[in-house]
Amino acid sequence: MKAPKTHNIFNPEKECMSREALRELQNERLRKTVKLEYDNVPVYRARMDAKGIKPEDIRTVDDLRYLPFTNKTDLRDEFPFGLLASPKSEIVRIQGSSGTTGKPIVSGYTENDVEVWTEMVARALVAAGGTKDDIIQIAYGYGLFTGGLGAHQGASKIGAMTIPMSSGNTARQIMMMKDLGSTMLCCTPSYATYLGETIREMGLDPKKDLKLKSGVFGAEPWTEAMRTRLEELLDIDACDIYGLTEIAGPGVAFECLEKCGMHINEDHVIPEIIDPVTEEPLPYGASGELVFTTITKTGMPMLRYRTHDICVLHPEKCACGRTTVRMGRITGRTDDMLIIRGVNVFPSQIESVLVSVKGVAPFYMLIVDRVNSTDTLEVQVEIDENGFSDTVADLENIRNEIGEKIKSVVGISAKVTLVGAKTLPRSEGKAKRVIDNRKL
Ligand code: AMP
Ligand code: ZN
Repeated sequence: MKAPKTHNIFNPEKECMSREALRELQNERLRKTVKLEYDNVPVYRARMDAKGIKPEDIRTVDDLRYLPFTNKTDLRDEFPFGLLASPKSEIVRIQGSSGTTGKPIVSGYTENDVEVWTEMVARALVAAGGTKDDIIQIAYGYGLFTGGLGAHQGASKIGAMTIPMSSGNTARQIMMMKDLGSTMLCCTPSYATYLGETIREMGLDPKKDLKLKSGVFGAEPWTEAMRTRLEELLDIDACDIYGLTEIAGPGVAFECLEKCGMHINEDHVIPEIIDPVTEEPLPYGASGELVFTTITKTGMPMLRYRTHDICVLHPEKCACGRTTVRMGRITGRTDDMLIIRGVNVFPSQIESVLVSVKGVAPFYMLIVDRVNSTDTLEVQVEIDENGFSDTVADLENIRNEIGEKIKSVVGISAKVTLVGAKTLPRSEGKAKRVIDNRKL
């Protein structure tokens, strides 16, 4: 049963502010954040000094363009606590995500930051029709990844009955969904589709056997075609939710039941779209790289964080009454990050595993596909001619070693295929290391 098209708003005072009042609030909060960074984070201070900027020079959102960018490499270089703007004793939570090498990147949250993030998710759930009478099943992974805990906190905040299933174990998910009468589902869109297909294969009819009305799906790119399929399979309204660890987690932006792009929580973050090459800001309506500046975070605030996600911003007022700018679907990346089963994967992480294994050469190809709505990863890697051994046991050991290391470094399992020396294509220019056969 689909959600009634109500437009409940968790925090109308903030979500429906006039643009002028919102700008004033952003200006004030931006000034505070810039000062916080300058006074407490040596990297930011050094970069601003190098550009000859003092915190007092940044007065309004229009001055953002003078500030330096922040990149994922900064989180790696300053790992783990170099970017904290508050004393370590004020940090109450660590969450993490994939870095470009073997180590994850981590973000530290103060109590204030957890509260801000929680409200962002609460807004998203209410926008998808959520109330305290709902039973919300959370099938995002719990752990360092922000999906599980983020959705959990938001669901608790609106007073819903929250079921912390975490990801996987599809049969148990469906049993609980049926027995407890879950009315909302939070997970990745591909896992939701897989759940839907399994439910249908089991001969269950969501209209009769389930009570789901809507879902809040994110952590990976999806399309309108996937939305239509998911809504039919589960007989629900499917809303998109976007976020990233560096900024907060899920809830940075979310769709209302109008489903026309994701409302950005602009009282907490300022979005920009830039040309990824010239790094110049682009106007609303132009496609480019999304950049966020946090304006309420105190643990690890971010100035002009380059997400590498490509999208368009829409400023027109939405029929739901919210006045915040909406971001369209993520249409690509400006780097080589892949999202496989909701997990961010950089080819360089896999490469770092392969160079640590004896008997293989650093020539590899990643083949990504989607089988039964589930992402698959095959890693083809060349045997090293010199260390070549043709005993089956040796080859099996190498395969197992690579598989286990990938699982521990990247966090997902991969099929490892060993191929003969010099069989993978060599390129004269930039090596093509990835074949992505997924049709979104
Ligand atoms: P993480 O920090 O591990 O949660 O990963 C954040 C990244 O996941 C973002 O930068 C996006 O590339 C991707 N992502 C999160 N939500 C969405 C979404 N709704 N649509 C497309 N990509 C998403
Ligand atoms: Zn709306």
